[in-house]
Amino acid sequence: MKLTVIGTGYVGLVTGACFAEMGNTVTCVDVDVRKIENLHKGILPIYEPGLEPVVINNYKQGRLRFATSLDDPMSLEGNVFLIAVGTPPGEDGSADLQYVLAAARDIGRRISGYSIVVDKSTVPVGTADKVRAAIQDELKKRSLQVPFDVVSNPEFLKEGAAVEDFMKPDRVVIGTDSDKVRAVMHDLYAPFMRNRERIFFMGVKEAEMTKYAGNAMLATKISFMNEISNLCDRMGVDVESVRHGIGSDSRIGYSFIYPGAGYGGSCFPKDVKALVRMAHEQNFDPLVLNAVEARNEAQKYVLSGKIIKRFGTDLRNHVFGLWGLAFKPGTDDMREAPSRVLLEELLGAGARVKAHDPVAMPAAQRELPAEWFSSGRLELVPQQYDTLSGADALILVTEWKPFRHPDFDRIRKLLKQPVIFDGRNQYDPATLRAAGFEYTGIGR
Ligand code: NAD
Repeated sequence: MKLTVIGTGYVGLVTGACFAEMGNTVTCVDVDVRKIENLHKGILPIYEPGLEPVVINNYKQGRLRFATSLDDPMSLEGNVFLIAVGTPPGEDGSADLQYVLAAARDIGRRISGYSIVVDKSTVPVGTADKVRAAIQDELKKRSLQVPFDVVSNPEFLKEGAAVEDFMKPDRVVIGTDSDKVRAVMHDLYAPFMRNRERIFFMGVKEAEMTKYAGNAMLATKISFMNEISNLCDRMGVDVESVRHGIGSDSRIGYSFIYPGAGYGGSCFPKDVKALVRMAHEQNFDPLVLNAVEARNEAQKYVLSGKIIKRFGTDLRNHVFGLWGLAFKPGTDDMREAPSRVLLEELLGAGARVKAHDPVAMPAAQRELPAEWFSSGRLELVPQQYDTLSGADALILVTEWKPFRHPDFDRIRKLLKQPVIFDGRNQYDPATLRAAGFEYTGIGR
């Protein structure tokens, strides 16, 4: 099949590369000219395990192509267009649809034969109608009557495991009322589910809601466990025992019940906000979602609160070693990362921070306030242990693998005093305390 993917970010590039890997010819389009130039040189805009070889091999084989606009005739060779542009939160929390609708208009300005337009971006219920109207509008301006269908196909990949998730999806959700579209989408995804069928066909609005309900459910689990961890902290209970105790209940399960520094990233925060906004538009007060968001906002301050409680509100003479900047391991994504709030709090109190992240340091350098670097208050350090020399404490924020089982003797020798703040409950408090460390976790 010939496909065009519009938007070449985390979702668009993975989608394009994985469809190309299955033998399709895919053109990935992005308005970011530099991103496309780099992709032509084999330089990827994002870090995602396993993605680079898939992109490079398929590019070399001519199955994966890159263009900066739909004006490139390559991008109009097929009749399936997947929209995978960003849907960031607007000022009122609603999903900002400007990029999705711009992509729709771009499609409407160019198509000349039957086309299938696939909404892969996460979009509020009712967006497919807006996409349809935008395309229709452009066709009208061209005085053309071109048949087309708009289908909702939300993406469920996880950053850090995006290629694996795309190649072996738990489920593929397709929202459409058309038998013709159903057949095409089935054909497109069939190679990804050779061993058993995992496609769920449903209505367009149901597919749009499924994506939000899924992310909101996961965010709810995280916020719930963070809430319990705060209670544990106050009652002398170790939340890690509680986590094992409840996770073993198959009705609850172990995933997404890790207490920590709050959820971040480009999806959960904005999708919960957008769902709250959708509820308000229906004059409905979403009590659970409000609480999920409020707990998460508060949770981002729990770790810095513990550090300030230990060292005082004036941190001008303090240096901290920070392990982890990305919002979770396996990605360079810094969007809404809890490390941002922690840094704001510590630097705001006058501290200096030396930070290391295995892959997110270039993104941090680009995205964090330049003044933090120019003032010398934040330094990014290429080697994890170099963050610790003369530091008052080690703070763990992202549980990358090299941070999970570190050399504690070395840590003790480097630190000014053996103090560890473990924002992800990676270490055993009893072992560390026996080794002479002052240990603080979340809910322990
Ligand atoms: P991203 O910001 O990484 O990428 C979006 C890309 O779209 C950018 O490169 C941008 O330049 C490009 N773009 C914007 N307008 C364009 C236009 N008119 N034509 C062509 N390109 C254009 O975003 P992302 O993280 O890939 O997310 C994309 C969508 O997928 C969002 O709706 C998001 O909620 C959803 N989603 C993301 C993830 C994730 O883990 N990142 C997972 C599932 C769903």
